[in-house]
Amino acid sequence: MKASQFTLATLRNTPSDADIISAQLMIKAGLIRKLASGLYVWMPTGLRVLKRVEKIVREEMERIDAQELLMPVTQPAELWQESGRWEDYGAELLRFKDRHSRDFVLGPTHEEVITDIARSELKSYKQLPATYYQIQTKFRDEIRPRFGVMRAREFTMKDAYSFHIDKDSLAKTYQDFYEAYSRIFTRLGLDFRAVQADTGSIGGFASHEFHVLADSGEDDIAFSSESDYSANVELAEAVCHDTRQPPSEPRTDVDTPNMPTCEEVAEHLGMDLTRTVKTLIVKGSYSEYTPDMPKLVALVLRGDHTLNELKAEKLPQIKAPLEMASEDEMKEAGLVKGYISVDLAKYDIPVIADRSASVMADFVSGANIADKHTKGMNWERDAVYADVADIRNVVDGDPSPDGKGVLQIKRGIEVGHIFQLGDKYSHALNCTVLGKEGKPVTLMMGCYGIGVSRIISASLEQNHDDKGCLWVDTPDPVDNIAPFYVAVVPMKSKDGSAEAKADELYSTLKAKGVNVLLDDRDERAGVKFADLELIGIPHRIVVSERNLAEGKYEYAKRGCDDKELLGLDEVLAKF
Ligand code: ATP
Ligand code: MG
Repeated sequence: MKASQFTLATLRNTPSDADIISAQLMIKAGLIRKLASGLYVWMPTGLRVLKRVEKIVREEMERIDAQELLMPVTQPAELWQESGRWEDYGAELLRFKDRHSRDFVLGPTHEEVITDIARSELKSYKQLPATYYQIQTKFRDEIRPRFGVMRAREFTMKDAYSFHIDKDSLAKTYQDFYEAYSRIFTRLGLDFRAVQADTGSIGGFASHEFHVLADSGEDDIAFSSESDYSANVELAEAVCHDTRQPPSEPRTDVDTPNMPTCEEVAEHLGMDLTRTVKTLIVKGSYSEYTPDMPKLVALVLRGDHTLNELKAEKLPQIKAPLEMASEDEMKEAGLVKGYISVDLAKYDIPVIADRSASVMADFVSGANIADKHTKGMNWERDAVYADVADIRNVVDGDPSPDGKGVLQIKRGIEVGHIFQLGDKYSHALNCTVLGKEGKPVTLMMGCYGIGVSRIISASLEQNHDDKGCLWVDTPDPVDNIAPFYVAVVPMKSKDGSAEAKADELYSTLKAKGVNVLLDDRDERAGVKFADLELIGIPHRIVVSERNLAEGKYEYAKRGCDDKELLGLDEVLAKF
């Protein structure tokens, strides 16, 4: 490609509305342009990167015998009504009507459509297992689109789905995907981890997320210092080996004016935050069908711990999805917001203590009186809990749930997700085949996603410098996802010799199949170099009259300060 005929679209200034370094770089380097919130145009430079990621993903899907197909983005509502997700999916699902007033959705995912295909095309167990994938645009009306294409509303996903006669077959294909994903992220040169993930409300059997490690990640992941245990913090079990000491202090109310938080109270009383507790009031799972369940539930956590909503909402007493009680509801129940006590015996609100809170003694809780807390609180003597449960997020230094080492928390960007779904969709859509005994068997399903466009943001979060993008070296150079792998830059020469030689070198490299850009723009060398560094082109060859006199070309690798003078053969041998 010749730069004079290519829309490089680089910018001099950092875009003010980009909220993360990768988004700034992608806009500045001309990879993307924002059209509206969460909607981006892939400019020629960016699309070259996207296609290169797609190629690697596709190769690894073919390697595990997944069959590529392509489903429509627009899907009829009937299928979503059949699966139950028309009601359940929420506002991320964009629904609309066609000219005949029929309901449709823009596909955020394709379980319904693929299951519809499977139920009509798969007839016998002999056709199984069957795995399909597509690389396609998804639409999710994200509540907070941000970070450029990292959390967009329209984005490119590789989604795959597998169908099985039994759980064993599903587990085997799942393992194939686990390995394929590991190969993909390794080939891309990313620092990633596969972590255990929550199977959520679907009730599947197993799930792993693949995270690219980066401080800007939206997920917290926990690793053991001594084993290969790793899990999303959403899921990681908080274990507690401590035992409770007997009470040694009397129960006394103390003044804590205008101090609704544990931090303020701990500071005021000169105590460690770990000796305070907080009591959160959430809605219980009471309904006319479950009248024995409580209307409100109190959750008690150590002052320095945070509630894990996913863990809490799995408890039968608690309403899912988790909802905090409103101020009015608390008032009505006789509770004083910000000062709620753990001693709720007379309020008819069951107390669930987190494991770590349940082993505390002589602690501080609210007094259920405005501007007062109680010191010297002790379980059994001063308050009772109905249950002890793991309802908090793990923190750095917690024991690893597998008994080996302690946990360390890092931030991750989720780039892939694999899931043993079980029969949720096949059951709802009646997707069966004839089994060995000649009777219909409901299929087992797996689903597997990769955020193809998000990978590019994630890669840049991990690899950039103050000059711009770095396209990380990949184990095989062919897999490098840089938009151009080599730039050839002629310096203006009086006799035109540098331009001619640069052109020649460009043609030779191109004929060899090298992904090369000739920067033949009528610009100062400094402008060209800055652009090429911003775009992150890994290799640069400068052709100048002076060096040509010695038969040399100046070679520089992006990210390294050194320049080398090489003969033509040496240059060609590099690629
Ligand atoms: P997240 O927790 O980040 O919202 P998710 O659980 O909704 O992700 P999946 O439904 O598993 O994601 O989708 C598969 C993959 O698609 C994710 O692993 C992620 O890489 C990518 N992805 C999901 N939502 C977006 C988005 N809004 N923009 C870009 N990529 C996305
Ligand atoms: Mg999501």
